[in-house]
Amino acid sequence: MDECIFCRISVGKSPANIEYSDNDVAVFWDINPRAPVHLLVVPKKHIPSVDDMSEVDEKLFGHMIGVARKVAKDKELNKDGYRLVFNVGKNSGQIVDHVHLHILGGQPLGTMNEQMNGSQL
Ligand code: 5GP
Ligand code: ZN
Repeated sequence: MDECIFCRISVGKSPANIEYSDNDVAVFWDINPRAPVHLLVVPKKHIPSVDDMSEVDEKLFGHMIGVARKVAKDKELNKDGYRLVFNVGKNSGQIVDHVHLHILGGQPLGTMNEQMNGSQL
């Protein structure tokens, strides 16, 4: 999809700070980082959200998590821990309609309870 920004970034048609790329996924830095390390794992196939995935995509989603784990390890986030997040639809605040897995780390991120009490991710 040429009009989709994450389709364009994932195949190198639009600029981004790319950290990792293979046949199926790309990983790049979030333009508005919410943590010292804030990366996005994006499939090269256009899928609007997790809610739109089908059975044939299960392997791809597993690969996204495997790549996230590898990149997190490369950044040494595994030592103190990190967060992986899929936002899905309106209530989650998803703003880009192309599936992406957030990798957040490099500082304490707050518990889920603290986030539900109003602090930002
Ligand atoms: P969402 O809320 O949809 O889960 O998160 C989308 C994320 O994509 C946001 O954190 C936002 O800062 C990031 N983002 C939006 N547009 C761009 C872009 O053009 N380039 C990059 N690198 N990140 C983007
Ligand atoms: Zn797309």
